[in-house]
Amino acid sequence: MSRLDQESRLRAPQRLRLTVAKSPASHLEGGMAADADRFVGLIVRLQPLREADLIVSALTERGDLVDAFARGARKSSRRFRGALELFALGELEVKKGRSQLPSLASFDLVTHLAPSSMSYEHLCVASSVLELASRCAQPNQLDPSLFRWAQTALMLCDQADISRLRWAMLVIDLTLLKTLGVLPDVSRCGRCGQTTLQGASWPQADEEFVCSRCQPKAHFDGQTMQVLITVLAEPEQGLRLVMGSRAGNPLRERVDDVFHGLWRQPLKSRVPLAALTSSR
Ligand SMILES: [Zn+2]
Repeated sequence: MSRLDQESRLRAPQRLRLTVAKSPASHLEGGMAADADRFVGLIVRLQPLREADLIVSALTERGDLVDAFARGARKSSRRFRGALELFALGELEVKKGRSQLPSLASFDLVTHLAPSSMSYEHLCVASSVLELASRCAQPNQLDPSLFRWAQTALMLCDQADISRLRWAMLVIDLTLLKTLGVLPDVSRCGRCGQTTLQGASWPQADEEFVCSRCQPKAHFDGQTMQVLITVLAEPEQGLRLVMGSRAGNPLRERVDDVFHGLWRQPLKSRVPLAALTSSR
């Protein structure tokens, strides 16, 4: 894929956001029925139904999850122009009917957020992003930051070559925890309020981060804290920072340790795991 293609691919969602943001009144002026809804969404799940139909689940730009019934979508690709695929980002129009599920009237593809490298590893990471997004999003619960997280996560996955994927996953996981509101502020000490950039610990799950002045022998050194703070504020830049060091650099090992070791226990009790693992 050329650089230009890639850039326009990444820019497309932002551009679209400006053009489709309409007030409810303008919907009606445009001749759309009151029981119809039009929105930008990312296709996160497709469930076959009977012989020819599909149930489409989309994470909307508003951050909620919408399930819609796509009649005949599996039989004729003409109706949705073959665009109903996982990772497709587009404009959906759904209409409420008498049945429980609204029906999908149209889907206009804007761009495709599947990784351009279709390696098994890339597909695993990208699919896990869709899975997490569909489990964290709920019908009628608006959380636009979740949509932004999914877009960023798929972009990071797309940009990372195989050797960087594990670091992309680290950034994806950390930013999801931040999006869900289960990480404390990592940049300030919960006791004295000073910066944690000199090093910090996270003694207990229900405690804030504690700087190395308040609690010597910090779990995380200053370099690690800088990476974590950057990752959470600017995921792309954070990934570059993680990757900027040479292979085998202790910093990477440290960040890996942090996530897979020390962070696991405190996080376990903070993350609403039941919400993430319960079957819907
Ligand atoms: Zn302190």
